[in-house]
Amino acid sequence: MAKTVLISGASRGIGRATAKLFASKGFNVVINYNNSEKEALILENEIRLLGVKTLAIKANVANLIEVENMFKIIKENFGGVDILVNNAGVSKFSLAQDLTETEFDKIFGVNMKSVYLLTKYALDFMISKKSGAIINISSMWGERGASCESAYSASKSAIIGYTKSLAKELGLSGIRVNAVLPGVIDTDMNACFSKEELDDLADSCSLKRIGKPEEVAELIYFLASEKSSYITGQAIAIDGGFIG
Ligand code: NAP
Repeated sequence: MAKTVLISGASRGIGRATAKLFASKGFNVVINYNNSEKEALILENEIRLLGVKTLAIKANVANLIEVENMFKIIKENFGGVDILVNNAGVSKFSLAQDLTETEFDKIFGVNMKSVYLLTKYALDFMISKKSGAIINISSMWGERGASCESAYSASKSAIIGYTKSLAKELGLSGIRVNAVLPGVIDTDMNACFSKEELDDLADSCSLKRIGKPEEVAELIYFLASEKSSYITGQAIAIDGGFIG
């Protein structure tokens, strides 16, 4: 029977590329989105054409009630999720003293609280099967810290701590938990940067280019697959050898 993957924030960017890759490997794919309904429905159609079961579900992953409702729909349609990719994220470029409390709460809500919420609701099914994989999308800034992205960086550091703790808690249940730390990837999240700024960031990579969402998707897929059966509790960078 086909396994089911839930990808939060799958309407765009890294989540979208990941959804397509899992579908191409025969997984049932639950596409979570919040605002980008059109993009999510187009993706749902594309994936359905690949012959796998798929469903786009709108839910703000920072909201407990909306997450609870999403899991009710998942239970009815798929039974549960075998693989959880906590990918949804938001960033805000701002001096620390200018960041508002509302902006701070949004960053921590979408980036970190959502990881706790989706994990909480995904676990019953995984524990009953004594198998599963959770892949949390952190960031290289979660290890290095980024100037003018202090709250974002802190939320991504928190994901690493959560990942390492959960891996210890869930190992006996046969569930692996890992974090992926992308560098600069070509998605809407970096639309705030000018061409010159992006060129500078590319220059700070050993590979002298920024990454593609499809490259991150391959690492996520590897961490979900049996090929990574002895890897858990790790924070794995995919940053083109960032040296800046
Ligand atoms: P993106 O292109 O901006 O896409 C963000 C995705 O998150 C969208 O699908 C969006 O869905 C979803 N999202 C935002 N708020 C949400 C909410 N409240 N509930 C549900 N979904 C929500 O960003 P990306 O670059 O693909 O980023 C994906 C992940 O990689 C993020 O966690 C990000 O922090 C991390 N990352 C990215 C980079 C990079 O350079 N791009 C580097 C390091 C880490 P809607 O549009 O439907 O709301």
